[in-house]
Amino acid sequence: MAEIHDGKPQKNIAQGAIENAILFLSGINRMAGHQSETISPWEIIIVNWLNPLPYYLYTEDGGKRDKRETEQKEKKKSKKERKLLCKHCEHIISSPEYRINFQGAFDHTFLNPSGQMFQIGCFRKANGCAVLGEVSSEWTWFQGFQWQVALCGQCLKHLGWFYQSETDFPFFGLILDALI
Ligand SMILES: [Zn+2]
Repeated sequence: MAEIHDGKPQKNIAQGAIENAILFLSGINRMAGHQSETISPWEIIIVNWLNPLPYYLYTEDGGKRDKRETEQKEKKKSKKERKLLCKHCEHIISSPEYRINFQGAFDHTFLNPSGQMFQIGCFRKANGCAVLGEVSSEWTWFQGFQWQVALCGQCLKHLGWFYQSETDFPFFGLILDALI
């Protein structure tokens, strides 16, 4: 029953308790005049009854499991704390948790009137952006939405556009290549 870890057999508390119970019961058997060294069905029933302890609480595997759970929690936490920065000056712009799907996708690729291609991602919030200029619907990439230019709030590099409409929620379309 001993599990093997790193080539060494290891007992856990539950196994120790069972073995002690078996020794105790076979001692009683002998005192009662039974010379048999084998375990009787009664002993098996009692030993099983004495064994409600969940093994994982006592084994090294249990320890590993706890460690894995902690690591997963840490990972989740750091994912939440991860930020998207301006590639130019590393000012905090937004965070992956503000990513949204708009019209079925997070990222969209568009050409501007002068033929320049942009791949933008949609974000619910981008607190690091400064939104500037006139509200315009000219050449808008999203039907029904007006846009303003969104710059890095620190170095003023062009990072994308802020979109708003009368009927839908506002969002940022940020140039993914301009973020790290
Ligand atoms: Zn910047």
